[in-house]
Amino acid sequence: STDVTERREMAAERERLLAAEREQVRRLRELDRMKDELVAVVSHEIRSPIAVIRTYADMLLDGPGLDDEQRMFAGVIDRRSTHLQHLVEDLLDLARLDSGQLAVDPRPLSLNRLVRQAVDDHRAAAEAKHLSVEVGLERHLPVSADPVRLRQVLDNLLSNAVKYTPEGGAVTVIAGCSGRIGGDGECRSGTVTLTVADTGIGIPAEEHEQLFSRFFRASSAHEAGIKGTGLGLAITKAIVEAHGGTIDAAPRDGGGTVFTVRLPVDPAAPA
Ligand code: ADP
Repeated sequence: STDVTERREMAAERERLLAAEREQVRRLRELDRMKDELVAVVSHEIRSPIAVIRTYADMLLDGPGLDDEQRMFAGVIDRRSTHLQHLVEDLLDLARLDSGQLAVDPRPLSLNRLVRQAVDDHRAAAEAKHLSVEVGLERHLPVSADPVRLRQVLDNLLSNAVKYTPEGGAVTVIAGCSGRIGGDGECRSGTVTLTVADTGIGIPAEEHEQLFSRFFRASSAHEAGIKGTGLGLAITKAIVEAHGGTIDAAPRDGGGTVFTVRLPVDPAAPA
């Protein structure tokens, strides 16, 4: 009978431990949810004051009557608040991602125009660092995509390429069809492949796997003293995957990095 009592006590103890564990899991989930909510609420609240600061800094810079020193101060306010605005947008995107609200609204479109516009918008930054920028677009590339979100992907990859490539380097954007090509030379099925390559500081091979995790920054970026948050690629990957695509990074022959995005072809997309 002592045996029976002992077994009963052990069973009761196991029950207590299991209950305590379940309670712990529940509390951790609750804390995690509260953390997500805090980030979302704070980001949202910070967003409008930053927009106001930016608007007034722009007005000061556009208007007359500032001396050189004042212009320099207004420039700093403008640049720093723009940086904050991007950070807040990234945090809001992550919050949307966590709550399943990062919506993509895909429609048939040609990747060519979107790529050209994105590259044009990054040319000034590249030229300021004496980087050459080359674009190779093979035929009409029809995809089904959310133009705003896909622009975000292109902007992130291009701004990284410019940011992580020292003076005098090169950025090359190539897009092509890895599927069936029709008689008219158009991409009919399969995937559209877009690569953004640079001759920059590169990423150590053993870090490639973590590259798309939130807040991850490569050791090469730390060593080069280049600032960042490690949020952009996590968002970029989520957007690409929401389009049914894939993204990966590889070292470039001769140094630097190549990012490859693959998207399904949408034969209905207009040229
Ligand atoms: P951020 O640039 O703000 O740090 P990202 O999420 O865009 O954040 O990139 C994550 C990390 O990946 C960067 O910190 C950097 O270490 C590395 N990385 C991204 N793009 C490149 C690139 N073109 N060349 C070298 N390293 C890069």
